Amino acid sequence: MSLNMVAGLVWGAGVVGWYVIRFPHALRAKRMAVERAPGRALELVLLVISFTGLFTVPFAWVMLGWPRAANYAASPWLIAAGALVFAGSLRLFARTHRDLGKNWSVTLEVRTQHRLVTEGVYARVRHPMYAAFWLWALAQALILPNTVAGLAGLVGFGTLYFVRVGREERMMREKFGDEYQAYTTRTGRVIPRFRA
Ligand code: SAH
Repeated sequence: MSLNMVAGLVWGAGVVGWYVIRFPHALRAKRMAVERAPGRALELVLLVISFTGLFTVPFAWVMLGWPRAANYAASPWLIAAGALVFAGSLRLFARTHRDLGKNWSVTLEVRTQHRLVTEGVYARVRHPMYAAFWLWALAQALILPNTVAGLAGLVGFGTLYFVRVGREERMMREKFGDEYQAYTTRTGRVIPRFRA
């Protein structure tokens, strides 16, 4: 088996693991009543961009070898490092879903029964699920020996992150007021904050 095939299998295993973790939450989320959903159309565009970078472009490389001109020699060490980062991403991803529970949504939404989560992996970071996606994008860059497929995740998810995160925090501040304001002063966005 070639190293390129190993790279494709490792990346594919990460994506399947991600889907297994997410699936039950996606099913449950469909049944939750929504109070507010700001910027619906923009949110859908962001999802498509992020999905293209984290899935469609690397999938095209794994299945079709496209774009061949951007290939470089695979390194077993980079693939192994990427596998570790992907494993860490999935672990964090599972914990964010557990801690966020019924408050999770794929696009920006405030639920009628929304509760502000500030414990577990949310104690020191406001966006641990986005931190997990950053780790996925980093793992993809390490695993896939192709500059386009490798970097697509950082570009695609990065676009969603930077366009969404300020809007998400504004939405949370409108809903939870001083409680959210206080929460922002003791946490970091994706990098844990340990002192006030
Ligand atoms: N940005 C968070 C959550 C991603 S899911 C993270 O990266 O972990 C996006 C949804 O989560 C948003 O629609 C918002 O309603 C909800 N959300 C974000 N932070 C929250 C929190 N601390 N408590 C409860 N819900 C939250």
